[in-house]
Amino acid sequence: MHSNISIFVPHVGCPHKCAFCDQNAITGKQKLPHKDDVEKACMQALSQVDDISDTEIAFFGGSFTAIPRDYMLELLTAAKKFVGGGRFKGIRISTRPDYINAEILDILKSYGVTAIELGAQSMSDEVLEANERGHSAEDVRQASRLIREYGFELGLQMMVGLYKSGHQQEDETFNEIMAIRPDTVRIYPVVILKNTRLAKLLASGEYKPMSFEEVLSLSTRALGAFTAAGIRVIKCGLHASEIVEQDMVGGFYHPAFRELCEGELYRLRMESELDKAVKEGRSPENKKLVFAVKKGCISKAVGQKRANLRGFEELGFKVKIIEKEDIGLYEAKLLSDEEAAHDYAVRNIKQLKRSKSCGCFYCGRIFAPAEISDMINEGCGTAVCPYCGVDSVIGDASGYPVTKDFMHKMHERWF
Ligand code: SF4
Ligand SMILES: [Zn+2]
Repeated sequence: MHSNISIFVPHVGCPHKCAFCDQNAITGKQKLPHKDDVEKACMQALSQVDDISDTEIAFFGGSFTAIPRDYMLELLTAAKKFVGGGRFKGIRISTRPDYINAEILDILKSYGVTAIELGAQSMSDEVLEANERGHSAEDVRQASRLIREYGFELGLQMMVGLYKSGHQQEDETFNEIMAIRPDTVRIYPVVILKNTRLAKLLASGEYKPMSFEEVLSLSTRALGAFTAAGIRVIKCGLHASEIVEQDMVGGFYHPAFRELCEGELYRLRMESELDKAVKEGRSPENKKLVFAVKKGCISKAVGQKRANLRGFEELGFKVKIIEKEDIGLYEAKLLSDEEAAHDYAVRNIKQLKRSKSCGCFYCGRIFAPAEISDMINEGCGTAVCPYCGVDSVIGDASGYPVTKDFMHKMHERWF
């Protein structure tokens, strides 16, 4: 599994004053890492990480290519010794788009850097200017092109809900990042820290941030669309440890922001599956909905505090979510009754004991559960039809109709 050894490099002497950044407040409080620290971190990881060939050394935190050149080379020299030859996969750095050029990329290449992440933040010049980023959207386009030409992995970071960013500017950013198609994206809803310009603008009423719901919905759209396009979203929302909680005066922070977005994606997908089924006249019998999702994604689909299930329950539906192999991330498939009922034909001894009647969807016979004498699947019992010997028996305790008509439909679907 992919992992990173993260080394935080504060942006020493950064000449910029981005409206959301509190680097002036933290300068002096952060210890600068030196070559010994890099070596120590790498040595430690060598002895602790199982699959180092899929591990990268990540310099994050500031604008790596904008720090003093000697210092940058000191860090790269220390890291390079640990790259390749059966050791770490490569080096990741993050930087500003206006500190990328051919000379810098030549250096990075020669030191074993493999991935470059750019703080794009917005692709609207108006928003970049209002937040005093000191670079343009064109800088992001050009730097991305150059990084690609050099064969580096490209990552873009975007912020949602910046000062002067409305839906039109958010669309611009989303569409442009989609068009650039980076390998990875980080989505950061704005967190307003004290002692920043944003904090002042917020206090004076000049900055009226969007609602949390709007930012959640914009981030959800980005997470879903980037993932569907094959762009890896490596971050969505800040981790608790990344913000000094007492320094936060506003903005959009939730300790499980990504999970909220994922729950939303599943809710939207499940609702659209149901709408489609209703339009096509396939609404399930007895208001029981069975959705299949990717393996390991049931809790995401259920939503935080069962929010998605409760939403359906309020509409009178009972929802069951199961895992299936061939379903993509954030996709959900509403199973037809015939598909959903099939699950009740395996390991069904208990269900049949609770049933008054049962049927076989191979031969179509309806009979009493007491007539069953043969079972397969030792221990957890799958009933075999006493008339045809096929393991295609379901009982009425499954909630599905044990009728000739339904057995016929199941036969059509499965045989
Ligand atoms: S976010 Fe802006 S002000 Fe802060 S360190 Fe980076 S470039 Fe400098
Ligand atoms: Zn049968």
